[in-house]
Amino acid sequence: MSQNDPKRWRRDFPLLSMHVHGQPLVYLDNAATTQKPRPVIDAVNRFYKTANANVHRGSHALSMQATAAFELAREKVARWLGIDDSATLIWTRGTTEAINLVAQSWGRQHLQRGDLILLMQSAHHANIVPWQMLAAATGAHIEIIPLQADGDIDLNAYHRLLEQRPVLVALAHVSNALGTIYPVETLCREAKSAGATVLVDGAQALPHFDVSLEAMGCDFYAFSGHKVFGPTGIGALWGRRELLEAMPPWQGGGEMIEHVSFDSTRYAGLPFKFEAGTPDISGAIGLAAAIDYLGSQDRQAMEAYEQSLLKHALEGCRQIAGFRPVASGSQRVSLLSFELDGFHQQDVAHWLDRQGIAVRAGHHCAMPLMQSLGLPGTLRASFAFYNTFQEAEQLAQALEQLVQSQKSILPVAKLEQTSY
Ligand code: PMP
Repeated sequence: MSQNDPKRWRRDFPLLSMHVHGQPLVYLDNAATTQKPRPVIDAVNRFYKTANANVHRGSHALSMQATAAFELAREKVARWLGIDDSATLIWTRGTTEAINLVAQSWGRQHLQRGDLILLMQSAHHANIVPWQMLAAATGAHIEIIPLQADGDIDLNAYHRLLEQRPVLVALAHVSNALGTIYPVETLCREAKSAGATVLVDGAQALPHFDVSLEAMGCDFYAFSGHKVFGPTGIGALWGRRELLEAMPPWQGGGEMIEHVSFDSTRYAGLPFKFEAGTPDISGAIGLAAAIDYLGSQDRQAMEAYEQSLLKHALEGCRQIAGFRPVASGSQRVSLLSFELDGFHQQDVAHWLDRQGIAVRAGHHCAMPLMQSLGLPGTLRASFAFYNTFQEAEQLAQALEQLVQSQKSILPVAKLEQTSY
């Protein structure tokens, strides 16, 4: 078995050997959250068994040990993202909190009535709602960067919008609903030349490939640990030092101060200014274990394998009458968003679930995108490196069976659709 054999990767993930409804689990909901390899589970377990104490404030051995592990985790994640200055990596609960931090702190400081915020048509709600809240508070307004029919960004429209000199451009690195990879380096460069500050939502990129943030050219980058094989409840915001230093804290409390009196408070420096209260210590340590795990693998081989999985799944599904993929752009992660004509997505997802196949159905927290596509939602099968060709075939077979069963039960009439 080679180093890059998916069967070997698979064995590192205990949950994947589960059965659901009496069937072996086929987990194709990786864009929602990924499964955790044993080293992550062990690291969290070990922390609570041998090192649990609060961080940054203890004068005893255990607290110092916990602090060292927690800060080492920050260093590791920073290095993984190509960041030299680990103090510019702020722990958050995930992508959502990271974007809210920027909107509440940087946004309230920099946006004024009449200023323009650009959002993407395919944005996740986490990269829409915080900006709407900011716009409502400041009088700024929002415009949308449209997509082409294949899911790629409409560059001409983007260039035209940049001529209006937006103050903030909020991009996605990869669409969670379509799987499209956007050319963020180019988009960032162009937005910066137009004088904008740029935030990139990296939640769906890092599970599939490594990035180098210093090289990317953005000002802020947000991601979630649970989508990169780490624990839930931990994620991070990276920001340029000069921006972070000039930003006010957005939450107050312990940990984020240097001195407090009833008259005034002097805040701590980076990164602690943005980390009020006890952080998710075990989460950070678990995330570092996930990064170590990924670092010990050949990520390019993983990526190439995921692309072959996507191709295989597409080839199988294309044979099915009524199968319609929703995006067709050339740069995509291993995520298949599709419709099955004549079936409501929730019914299909329910059918697949009965076969042990976990997919997501619905709007994928991208309601404005679905509205622009004229769809109530899609089915989404999202693959990770631990999925197999056999699982991709099982998906296609289960869909084919559903289509066939509809034909045999109801030869003329269409299956009545459930309305949700
Ligand atoms: N952005 C994108 C592109 C996502 O896919 C997700 C998670 N579905 C989020 C933001 C929000 O991530 P979280 O819920 O972990 O904060």
